[in-house]
Amino acid sequence: MKHAYNIKSKLERIGYTSLGVLNMFMSVACLKATFAFMTPHFIQVIVPLALRGVFTYAVSEELLEEIIPGKRVVVPFGPKRLISAIVYKLEVQPVKGAKIRNVSYVLDNEPIITDDQFRFWEWLANYYMCGLGSIMIAAMPDAMRLSSQTLVVLSESNVDVELLTSLDKSILANLSTKGGTPVVNLEKIGNKASIQRSLDHLLRLGLVEVEESVVEQIKPKTQTFVVLEDTLKDEVKLSELLDMLVKAPKQLEVVMRYLEISGFFRANLQPVERNKLLNLSNSNASILNALLKKEVFYLHEELAYDPSLTGMDEGYQLSGKQKECADSILKAWNTNSTVLLHGVTGSGKTLVYADIMKRVRSTTGQVLFLVPEIALTTQLVERLKRMLNEEVLVYHSRFSNKERLTMWMQLRSSTPPRIIIGARSSVFLPFQKLDLVIVDEEHEVSYKQAESAPFYNAKDSAIWLAHHFGAKVLLGSATPTVQSYYLAKQGKFGLVELNERFGQLKMPKIELSDLRKALADKKMKGDFTPETMAQIQQTLNNKKQVIVFQNRRGYAPYQICQSCGWSAECNNCDVNLTYHKFFEKLLCHYCGYSLKQPKHCPQCGSAKLVVKGYGTEKIEDDLEILFPDARIARMDLDTTRKKMALENIITAFQEGSHDILVGTQMVTKGLDFENVAMVVVMTADALWSRPDFRAFERAFQLLTQVAGRAGRKTAQGKVLIQAYNLEHTVLDFVMRNDYKAMFETQIMERREFDYPPFSRMIRVQLGHPDAKLTKEASIFLGNKLRSFFGERLLGPEEPPIARIRNRYLRQMFIKLEISLSSQKSRDAIWSCVDDLEGHIDFRKVRLHIDVDPI
Ligand code: ADP
Ligand code: ZN
Ligand code: ZN
Repeated sequence: MKHAYNIKSKLERIGYTSLGVLNMFMSVACLKATFAFMTPHFIQVIVPLALRGVFTYAVSEELLEEIIPGKRVVVPFGPKRLISAIVYKLEVQPVKGAKIRNVSYVLDNEPIITDDQFRFWEWLANYYMCGLGSIMIAAMPDAMRLSSQTLVVLSESNVDVELLTSLDKSILANLSTKGGTPVVNLEKIGNKASIQRSLDHLLRLGLVEVEESVVEQIKPKTQTFVVLEDTLKDEVKLSELLDMLVKAPKQLEVVMRYLEISGFFRANLQPVERNKLLNLSNSNASILNALLKKEVFYLHEELAYDPSLTGMDEGYQLSGKQKECADSILKAWNTNSTVLLHGVTGSGKTLVYADIMKRVRSTTGQVLFLVPEIALTTQLVERLKRMLNEEVLVYHSRFSNKERLTMWMQLRSSTPPRIIIGARSSVFLPFQKLDLVIVDEEHEVSYKQAESAPFYNAKDSAIWLAHHFGAKVLLGSATPTVQSYYLAKQGKFGLVELNERFGQLKMPKIELSDLRKALADKKMKGDFTPETMAQIQQTLNNKKQVIVFQNRRGYAPYQICQSCGWSAECNNCDVNLTYHKFFEKLLCHYCGYSLKQPKHCPQCGSAKLVVKGYGTEKIEDDLEILFPDARIARMDLDTTRKKMALENIITAFQEGSHDILVGTQMVTKGLDFENVAMVVVMTADALWSRPDFRAFERAFQLLTQVAGRAGRKTAQGKVLIQAYNLEHTVLDFVMRNDYKAMFETQIMERREFDYPPFSRMIRVQLGHPDAKLTKEASIFLGNKLRSFFGERLLGPEEPPIARIRNRYLRQMFIKLEISLSSQKSRDAIWSCVDDLEGHIDFRKVRLHIDVDPI
C-alpha cells in the first residue's frame, strides 16, 4: 500500500469545562470505519455551516451517558475533517440507507446551549427561513465553534540524510519540536502541491506523523484567587503559623497582607486576587508557592468577566411627566405585554428606562436592554450604569472572542448578571429567565441583520423571546416605525406618549435653506448656502457647537471626465466608485474594490477629471477653509473603524475639543451633547428620493433624529435643512414635529398599496457570476412561485444595484396577506426552492430568502 502510515488523530479534551486532558487516538481506518452499523443510538446534531438540515450520528455505548442536548461534540464531517457540533435531539431514527458515522468525542461537561435557546433557534430558523446551522453561526461566540486542523508532528526515526530533498529538510527545520505544526503554517515555505508531495515523502520515511486535531484556542478569561485553608481560620492554629513564619519574613509578609486585605479580622472574608496580593506584599510566585506547599493557602480560579461597574447613583430625579410616563407603562403592561413609548427627542427616555428597570428589580429574572449599535451608545450605557448603580453586562460583536466567551460563560454560571445591555447579537445570549426587554430607538434599521443569513430582526426576535419567558417588552423611540405605531393604535401594543422635552425645553427651531436658489444666484460657498454660513458663524461666535450631517462618506461620489464623460465604476459591482481624498483612492462602498486615483482619464487621456457631489470628507475640507478658526472632527465609517475610535471622537466632542462635528447618519443616533446649539443637514433631498415604500418614513425619522441633537440641555436648538425641493411634505412634518401627521399619510398609502403592516413581505434574491444563468434561474423560480402565489409574486427583476461582488443579482418579492397562513406559505416557498436546487443547471446559484426585509 502506498500510504501505509498511520494518521494519528488526537482529540484533546479541552475548554473551560476541561477537568483533565484526555487524548484519544484513532487511525484513518478507524475514522473511516465509523459507520457504526451495530450501534443502536442515534442523535441529531447541528453543525456550524450554512446548510439547511441537521445531521444524524451514532453514539457508542461508552459515550452514551455523556450525550445531552446542548453539549458540543466532535464529529467527522466530510472525508477527513472533524468539526464541533451541538447535540440537538436524542433517540432519533436514522434515515434508511444513509451512511451514519460515530460521534468522536464529547467536548463539554455541561450543556452550553439551553432548551430555551433551542426553542428560540427553531423559531428563528422557521420564521426567517434558514438553517439551524446559520443560526448557530450567528448565535455562538466564534471561540465556541471549532473545526479541526491538520497537524504535522516530528517522530523519531533514523534516515539517511541523502534521501531528503531540500524541501524535505526545510520542512523538518520548520516543525516545532513540541506538539504539532499546522500544515497551513508550512505552506509559506513552498507551494501547496510540492509541500504535499514532500510531506508524503517524509511520512513514508517515518520522519513525521500527521494528526487531525480540534483545539480550543481561546479560553475564557479567568482570575486566580488566593484562599486561606479552613483549618487556619482557627485563631490558635493561625497564631502558631505566624510564630512559625517568623523565620521566613517574606512569607510572613504575604500572610499578614492577606489577612489585612481579606478583612480576616473584620470577619467578612473577601476573596483576594493572586496578583493583587503579590503586588501589595511585594512578593513573587515562588514565595506564594512555598505557602501553597505548606498548605496555608490554596488557589481558586474563577471566570473573570469585567463587570463594567457602575458609578455613583447621581440621584436623578424623574420629572413629574417622566414619573407619570413610567407609571403609565407599568399600568399598560397589565393589558399588553408589549408597550410602545413614543417620547420626543430629549424627553428623557433614558431616565424612564432606568426607573422601570429599578422597579422590576424585586424579581429574580433578567433584563435585556437592546441598543442599535453599542459603540454609538457608550454615552447611554454610561448614564444607565450610573443611574442603576448595579452591575451591567455589556455585550456586542466588537468585543474580542475571549471577552465574548467569558461573558457567555458568566451568563451560564450560577450567578448570572441581571442586566444585559447589548446590540443586535445579544438576543442570542443564554438567558436564564427574562423579565423585561427594552428596545431603545426601536425604529433603527440596524436591528435587522442585512448582510448575511440569518436575516433576523433583533427587535422582533426579542419580542418572541420575551413572550417565551413571559416577560414584558418596552419599545422606545421619538420616531417609532409606522408598523409599531400602527400595532399600538390597533391595541396590539400598549401606547404611552411623552411629548415634551425635559425641563420644558422647546423643541429645536427648524428652518429651510434653498439650495436651488443659492446655486442660481451663485451664492454658494463650497456646499453651503449663505444662510447656513451665517448661522454656523453665529453659533461659533456664541461658543456653541455645530453638527453637520451628510448621508455620504468619502470625498465625492463621482469622478467624471469632462472631455469624454468617463466615470469610475467598480470592477465587481454596478456602482460608481467614491473618491477618497485622504487615501488618494477611488473606493467601492459595496465590495471594497479600490483604484489609485488617476491623474488622467483612462479612456481619453484628458486631464479634465472633476469630482461631482460631496461626501463627509469633502465637507470637512471645505469647513476647514471656510471657518479657519474652528476645530473640526469627522465621524463616519472611515474615521471610526479602529476599536475605540468612535468612543474617542464622541468623548472629545463632548469635552469641547471640537467646534464642528461632520458625520454620516452616525451623528443622528441618540447622542446627547450638552453644548450643541445647531444642526445642519447638507442635502435633505437625497433622503427621500429612494425607490422604497419606506423612504418617506425614513426621511422623517432621520431628519427628526438629527434635529433632536440640537439644544438638549439649556436653550432651544436650531436646525438648518438645505434642500432643493423645499415643498416636499416630509419637510413640513419635520418642521412641525408632527409625527402623527406623518403616520396618517403613510398608513393610508400602505393600506392603499397593501404594503406592510397590511401585508408581509418576503424577498427572494438570486446571485451568480453569470448574468444569463442568474436570469434563467430567477425565471425558473419565479414561475414555480407564481404557480403557488399568483399575483402575490412581484418580479423577478433586477435590484437597483444589479451586480455586487461580481455576482449578478435578481430578486422577487412575495407579498402575503396578513390573514394567510404563514406556515403554508413557507412550505410552498421551500418546495419551490427544492425544485430550483434540484435543477442541475442552477446548483451553484446563490439564494437568499429575506423575511420582512427592510
Ligand atoms: P431622550 O433619550 O428621550 O432623547 P435623554 O434621556 O437623553 O432623552 O435626556 C435628554 C437630556 O435631558 C439628557 O441630557 C438628560 O440628562 C437630561 N434629563 C432628562 N431628564 C432629566 C431629569 N429628570 N433630571 C436631570 N436631567 C434630565
Ligand atoms: Zn475622458
Ligand atoms: Zn464593488
